[in-house]
Amino acid sequence: MDSQVVGVLGGGQLGRMLVEAAHRLNIQVAILDGDNTPAKQINLVASDKHVTGSFANASDVKALASNCDVLTYEIEHVDTKVLEELDQEKPHVQGTKWSRIQPSWRTVRTIQDKFAQKQHFAKFGIATAKSIAVGTSHPQGLKEIADQIGYPFMLKSRTEAYDGRGNYPVKSVSEVEPALAALDNRPLYAEQWANFRMELAVMVIKKSQDASADSWESATIAYPAAETIHEDSICKLVYVPARGISSQIAQAAQNLARRAVSTFAGTGVFGVELFLLEDDSLVINEIAPRPHNSGHYTIEACHMSQYEAQIRAVLPNLASRFPEGCTDLAVPAVVMLNILGGPEPTSHLLIADAALDVAGAKVHLYGKGDGRPGRKMGHITLVGSSMSECETKMHSLIQLADAVRA
Ligand code: ATP
Ligand code: MG
Ligand code: MG
Repeated sequence: MDSQVVGVLGGGQLGRMLVEAAHRLNIQVAILDGDNTPAKQINLVASDKHVTGSFANASDVKALASNCDVLTYEIEHVDTKVLEELDQEKPHVQGTKWSRIQPSWRTVRTIQDKFAQKQHFAKFGIATAKSIAVGTSHPQGLKEIADQIGYPFMLKSRTEAYDGRGNYPVKSVSEVEPALAALDNRPLYAEQWANFRMELAVMVIKKSQDASADSWESATIAYPAAETIHEDSICKLVYVPARGISSQIAQAAQNLARRAVSTFAGTGVFGVELFLLEDDSLVINEIAPRPHNSGHYTIEACHMSQYEAQIRAVLPNLASRFPEGCTDLAVPAVVMLNILGGPEPTSHLLIADAALDVAGAKVHLYGKGDGRPGRKMGHITLVGSSMSECETKMHSLIQLADAVRA
């Protein structure tokens, strides 16, 4: 399909699903991560091009670049300085004017600092929860910030955040000190509490390289608005179509997500997390410059998965090949349940095992070895002819997941 080799920084579960999509198109993918990480376990096609090491290490990133035509990501916590250097040395894919790093390292640099991301959105007039940088580890300094945004608020690490690790809800002034102690030594910002009535997520394909050249309508394509349910700041369930919202709100979420993504340079797939507030207005929570947990459902439920979309979007010969309707649902309804680790190393397998007896349930296990509490070990996608059918079939699996976590 394409002779170019796609290098991926990171080899976790998102990388594994990227590899699955690339295999079907016979496109070579090379992974930079530790040995035997989830993506490498199933990718023997380009195994001689894999690099053992870290996406946060400059020489390892250079080694991957020398094995590949295009570089992309499955995680945003990468070394962007070395990507900037590589971009200066050799900006384009051989014989083309196509940027070799997709999306741009500038995009990832902004997004990987969650406060810089908020400032970026402010610049473009895109609504987010009010945020203030915390330049001090002194409780008095944070109390003064709290006076501006009120209690409760969310104290957040600016960097290296995932699955809520880096968030501390501060409910009252007495929690200021424990919050600072819990996030000791991390760069911080404070975020006003969002009284949302629902969390939504929209996967967006950005197909035009240049953020400024196109309107958001021509540069982006949205997947449906998904309803996401988080527990302890970790995504637990995804429902598509989102339940109990009007088509106008779903459309507004898609449009806001597309506008937000169109402000970033480069091509690829982006995961946009939104809060739907009590007054039906929408604000952006955060954006990921890569496929996203809330988009796993696209594998079974959409004409083109977010993973295939990422592979297509970063390659010069395929990046414009997104036929009308490719992001549409191909089924009436779908629910995705994350399989998180429990108290025992194999607790999570109980959920996967039970799902084998549910017609329509697709089990994904990531090959991460031993489970730990809260670790994402796999997921189950259940498609059905109606949302109520999906809900009924998923019910016992959700109960089992709750029992495993308790
Ligand atoms: P991810 O794994 O999505 O990258 P993260 O560690 O970056 O997670 P956030 O997305 O910032 O964390 O927050 C995780 C969850 O915490 C949100 O999905 C939401 O449920 C809750 N949350 C975050 N910020 C706020 C806020 N300002 N007000 C209320 N709840 C919030
Ligand atoms: Mg995040
Ligand atoms: Mg998040």
